[in-house]
Amino acid sequence: MNDNLKIIHAEPATAAKHDWKETEVGSVFVSNYPPYSFWKPDYLPKAFEALNAKPRPEATLGLYLHIPFCRKRCKFCYFRVYTDKNSSEIQAYLDALAKEVQLYSALPSIKGRRLKFVYFGGGTPSYISAKHLQQFAKKLKATIPWDGAEEITFECEPGTLSEPKLEVIRKIGVTRLSLGIENFNDAILEENGRAHLSEEIYRTLPWIKALQFDQLNIDLIAGMVGETWETWRETVQKTIDIDPDSVTIYQMELPYNTVYSKSLLDGQAEVPVANWDTKRAWHEYAFEQLAAAGYEISSAYTMVKKNKKCQFVYRDAVWHGSDMIGTGVASFGHISGTHIQNVAGWNEYFDALNAGKLPLSRAFPTTAKERLTREMILQLKMGKINPAYFARKYDADILKVFGPHYEMLRHEGMLDFTRDEVRLTPQGFLRVDQLLPTFYDQKYRNGRYT
Ligand code: SF4
Repeated sequence: MNDNLKIIHAEPATAAKHDWKETEVGSVFVSNYPPYSFWKPDYLPKAFEALNAKPRPEATLGLYLHIPFCRKRCKFCYFRVYTDKNSSEIQAYLDALAKEVQLYSALPSIKGRRLKFVYFGGGTPSYISAKHLQQFAKKLKATIPWDGAEEITFECEPGTLSEPKLEVIRKIGVTRLSLGIENFNDAILEENGRAHLSEEIYRTLPWIKALQFDQLNIDLIAGMVGETWETWRETVQKTIDIDPDSVTIYQMELPYNTVYSKSLLDGQAEVPVANWDTKRAWHEYAFEQLAAAGYEISSAYTMVKKNKKCQFVYRDAVWHGSDMIGTGVASFGHISGTHIQNVAGWNEYFDALNAGKLPLSRAFPTTAKERLTREMILQLKMGKINPAYFARKYDADILKVFGPHYEMLRHEGMLDFTRDEVRLTPQGFLRVDQLLPTFYDQKYRNGRYT
């Protein structure tokens, strides 16, 4: 076993602790606030109130489409995905999704609004066939046009792509193709349960390049089971050789409900996941190599080509409090300050739509302070934030509201601030998700992202 790898024993992670050593079950990627465990079915009337009211005049709008199909379940995956659905079930799901969008488009909070972005996420959107995709896009566009949108993102798994399918993806207007490569080493891909191997990555790249998408993003994970310094260096070099417009790197987490986490909690198997120091070192190494190859930092996870104007409209909109219609099984949305989540069961999803109802399961109406906290922590993932933005939008001085928290993190060497800027130090930047719970209201500190 590599020196960097240790056997992890299950032990719940505490929320506000910035010196994590081992990768324990329960570690989280902060994607929203307050954590999902505080969202409740009891708040659904508030969601319907928001949906049936006029939108906030300044709010932008995006559409998220959840495509929950994958060829295989990755052992680190905690998303709602299905690996056993046939073509007619997929067709039925896409019809239901189109119906859901139709229901939304007639609501006072959505009607007539321009979409700023569309995001096909998963799961594996590229799992669906070219024919299904073409019909689905036609139906959707007839309900809610996206021709004026600034960005259409489509997540892909390399082994599901073919040249004709990529042509359809391009034709329906996708601008940002996001390729889930994760690693180039076949033994690591296999061990972690990924469906693709490196051969499939290289088979698909010439087709992608020829179609000239506005932006090609590559996703990597630092710290997959079996990773060593040698394999990671190779993965980073091979990524640079491909010359993508953007590279996104996540540090391997062990949220509840993954195959790996379950075996750890059941005591069934040892799962050698690199410790946090090692994953941070790998993350830092990749960022340094990418910087030397002409990339610049866009967020704690993403580097983009310096000489090309690369944006990530979906991310920036969500991190700045945009409205978002979240469609599909278990997906998340946000309308006029209220968080909304869909039902997580396949049958429940169909039952609701067949009855002509939105398939909502729980909601959370946020207060102004919670919206301020949410935007502040999400934007902190960009490495720096500007107090003037929050003063304009929330009439709040974040240096006062979060002053004691900033002071504490400054004392720990994670962050620094002036009147004009709050900035993470390189140390803080590499562990931003571990720092963010510091800013949570006391009652949300031990909340789970489930
Ligand atoms: S491809 Fe993505 S969504 Fe599908 S199982 Fe793997 S991690 Fe989960």
